[in-house]
This record gives sequence, C-alpha cells and structure tokens, in this order.
Amino acid sequence: MADRLPLPGFVDAHSHTFQRALRGRSEGGDFWAWREAMLLEAGRQTPEGVRRDYAATYRELRRAGYTVVGEFHYLGLPAASAAVDAAADAGIELVVLLAAYARGGLPRFRQESVAAFLGEVEALRANGVRVAPAPHSVRACPADWLREIGAYAGSEDLPLHVHADEQPREIEECLAEHGVRPIELLARCGCLGPRTTVVHATHADGRELDLLAESGARVCLCPTTEANLGDGYAPVEGLLERGIAICIGSDSNVRIDPLEELRELEGIARRSSGRRNVVPVEMLLAFGSAEGAASLGLDHWPGTEADLGHPSLAGVAVDDVPQALVFGCSADVFG
Ligand SMILES: [Zn+2]
Repeated sequence: MADRLPLPGFVDAHSHTFQRALRGRSEGGDFWAWREAMLLEAGRQTPEGVRRDYAATYRELRRAGYTVVGEFHYLGLPAASAAVDAAADAGIELVVLLAAYARGGLPRFRQESVAAFLGEVEALRANGVRVAPAPHSVRACPADWLREIGAYAGSEDLPLHVHADEQPREIEECLAEHGVRPIELLARCGCLGPRTTVVHATHADGRELDLLAESGARVCLCPTTEANLGDGYAPVEGLLERGIAICIGSDSNVRIDPLEELRELEGIARRSSGRRNVVPVEMLLAFGSAEGAASLGLDHWPGTEADLGHPSLAGVAVDDVPQALVFGCSADVFG
C-alpha cells in the first residue's frame, strides 16, 4: 500500500476568517447575542491584522486538507486585498465573495449604493482577483439591490453567494417586509440560478427547496458552525430528495476540519432518517471538494493527500479508507 492517498483538495466554500478569533469565547445566549460579539470583533479588524491573522488561519485550512477558500468578505476593500495577500502567503487558492451590504451591520460593511458595490467588484477584478458578488442576505440587501446584483452576476457569468434562512427571525422579517420568504425573494429578484450558492438554508420550507431545485442553485452547509450557533438542523434529506447540490464551508471557523463538516452533515441525515449511509461516501467527498469548486466557479483546483500511515487509518482495508476517513478521522490525517 502506498503511504499517501491522493485526493481532490477540499474546498471551503464559505469562510468568515476573522471569526476564528471568537472561538472559545462565551458567545452569548443565542445567534443574535453571538452576532453582537462578532460585530465587535469585525470592528477591530485592520488590513494589517487581516494580512497577519488570515495567513495563519489559511495555513490551518491548508494543513486540514482545504486547498481553496471562498472568503465571504464584508470588512471593506482594503481588507479584501489583505486577504488576497494572506492567501498567497499561505499557499491556498482564494475566491473573494465580496458582500453587498446596504443596511444594518457596521458602517464599514456598507456601500452607499449598489453601483458603488459593483464598482468594488470591478476594482478587484481589474486587479486580477477572483471575485464573485455576494449580497449578504435579504436582511442586508433590499429588493432593488438584489435585482441589480442578480442581473450583473448573470451577465458576467459569475457565481453569486448569499446567506438565507439561517435563523427564523430573518424569515419573519422578510415576510413582514416583502410578503415572501427569503429564497422566494431571491427567486423573484433574479438571484437564483445554476451559479447561485445559498448559504445555510437551515429553515427553508418545501416551496423554497423546490425553487432551489428548479433553478439549479446549490446550498452550502456549514454544520459545525450551524451547531455552534444553534441555527438548527440542515434540511439534508429535503436537499437530497430534490437533487440539490451541496457544498461545505468552515464559516465561523470554530472548527477547521472538512471531515468533521461531512460527518456532521451525514450525522444529521442519519439521525433524522433512522438509517445509515444516507449519502454515499463518494458523494460526501464530492460535497467537500468538486461541488465547492463548482460553487466558486473553478474547473481546476489543487489536490491533497491522506497519510495512510496515520494511526486513525492503521489496519483499515484499502476499500474502506474513504469511509474511515469521513467517519473515523480528523483533519490531521492530511498533515
Ligand atoms: Zn456566513
């Protein structure tokens, strides 16, 4: 047996890298209390700090088998450039998912107009940065912004990433403002298509999942963060039944381990169905790699290798290694 097993690199399709600093802190009573701590941390970020700290976290991602990261970025343009430099330093491929933020959050998150936001996207593209527009959420972007950004992504053939349905309150607020649920609003505003990735979709109802399936959109699940924040259970079976593609993200980076994300994802499906092997292991590994690359608009990305001499894999038959990786290993097996 070879000592190393080559594998497609894992793709982290959704990271807010600065949130790594929040791990281990008492994070408040619920998502909204955690968000206050997150906003304080976001306010402390400087381009110099991003350059330094992102490089350290990107090295952790790289050691954990991730070879690509989609940085969902809302800390302003100078910090976006610092993240690009940090990724180059750490040897990880980066796609900047530049967040559009019309309202709420901190002043540094916001652009004064949707034209100003698209100007920021163009500025990064002109510098050779891989970038995709990312309306932060229906909380942060009104309908006219969503329409313009959806049209821009469509005409430029770019991915579009957006948070939706992470928390029930967001859905209640969307219903009050627009009379429809978040994914329905995204569909109405031209933001759903085969290059769209909806992040979380935790509380999506059947109609919203149907809209995702009809449009060919993907869902990015971030199971360790969703568990940590008390978001709820990802609708794994509802996604699978409809053939909706799934990818994964490290999101708040409370954990950096693609195997753990996949194990949690399958664990949710097993607990809710009372069955085993709900998602075939080859498909799980594709969620962690090829689907993430497709979500970020990449055809090619670097590979990784598992250490077959690692104690976690000792004595495992060759044919069982993929299962053993997902269910019996941590990311140090890629070290
Ligand atoms: Zn996020």
